Amino acid sequence: MNYQVDENGFYGPYGGAYVPEVLFSTVQNLSQSYQGILDDPEFKKELSRLLKLYVGRETPLYPSPYLSGLHQTNVFLKREDLCHSGAHKINNTLGQVLLAKRLGKTRIVAETGAGSHGVATAMACALLKLPCFIYMGEVDMKRQFPNVERMRLLGATVVPALSGSKTLKDATNEAFRDWINNPVDTFYVIGSVVGPHPYPDMVAQFQSVISKELIQQVPDLTGKEVPDYVIACVGGGSNAAGSFYHFLDNPAVKLVAAEAAGKGLDSGFTAAATFRGKSGILHGSKTKFMQTNEGQVLEAHSISAGLDYPGIGPLHAWLHDTGRAQFVAVTDEEALDAGIALSQKEGIIPAIESAHALAALSHLDFKPTDVVVVCLSGRGDKDLETYIQYSTSKKSSHDQI
Ligand SMILES: *Cc1c(COP(=O)(O)O)cnc(C)c1O
Repeated sequence: MNYQVDENGFYGPYGGAYVPEVLFSTVQNLSQSYQGILDDPEFKKELSRLLKLYVGRETPLYPSPYLSGLHQTNVFLKREDLCHSGAHKINNTLGQVLLAKRLGKTRIVAETGAGSHGVATAMACALLKLPCFIYMGEVDMKRQFPNVERMRLLGATVVPALSGSKTLKDATNEAFRDWINNPVDTFYVIGSVVGPHPYPDMVAQFQSVISKELIQQVPDLTGKEVPDYVIACVGGGSNAAGSFYHFLDNPAVKLVAAEAAGKGLDSGFTAAATFRGKSGILHGSKTKFMQTNEGQVLEAHSISAGLDYPGIGPLHAWLHDTGRAQFVAVTDEEALDAGIALSQKEGIIPAIESAHALAALSHLDFKPTDVVVVCLSGRGDKDLETYIQYSTSKKSSHDQI
């Protein structure tokens, strides 16, 4: 079985490039040119230099005494929370903005929901000196105002999306419209392994720096050649794709994807696309997403903004159907409990997204000799308010009992 994208941009039945005709040649040109640029020694050298000196790679593989004791095995945290910007997203935005420059593009557009991808894109654009326009739903701009201020301080123009529900999907529509109007000079930076081919593959390759480092770190630390498990949370699936990448074709490595169950799989407030989704076309590719019987996209719910997405990338839909990856659904409460526990027992405050991957550990049975790698995709400073509210409400409901 092959888990790499095929020459037509598909993973099994998933993927492809379903874009409006006006964008067809732009997307096709990108498909034909991206791999050549990614493999170019000069491009590789410049990207590695920036990943080392600007992002701070490589990130440590940290053995967690607390989690290892709790689960009676050997748990290691891949510390993407220590990347510049506080999460893995910068690995991808730097790569794409560098690629845009190689293609002679003079303008960057992107959309953002909670703002993390917008901030990471604005950083890459400030560094590489390209003007940057970030579309963000007006409602999200109010909810995530500190990220709006960050993007502005970094020199980006934040464009409010005023249509529809004024959230992520409307920002996506408006960013797409911008790209359609400016296909020649503008590069569209996508934040996860979603969208039309070649984006899912391109983003997976930029994030694959995570598993590339594991290839060296796991033997150095454990004496085992490869980990027994690699576990990551899945919003669109980029930190998971990057953590899995170099192990995809090695069945000795078990891959586990933690999806956000939200308030529960049957609550109607969930983001677990493999459990509650069906296949269809979303954001330019064939994949799995939550939809009505008529095929309209359903709104997702998760306590974590980064996992609040109704679909998953096409690679993950294929990993699910082939059984190559195991998908587990983690509720808001399980994630918050796991995040608070890591903060108190280990002094690491994880992003609530990453806390879903930590909570997935309790869904699995390990051997004492297993080497278990969890991708800690980001830090939780952005989530303090949510953590504190949850602890306070839990404490007061205890007090009443
Ligand atoms: C955005 C984000 C995610 C979800 O995105 P993926 O593409 O699924 O990785 C996960 N963790 C953090 C910290 C994020 O910022």
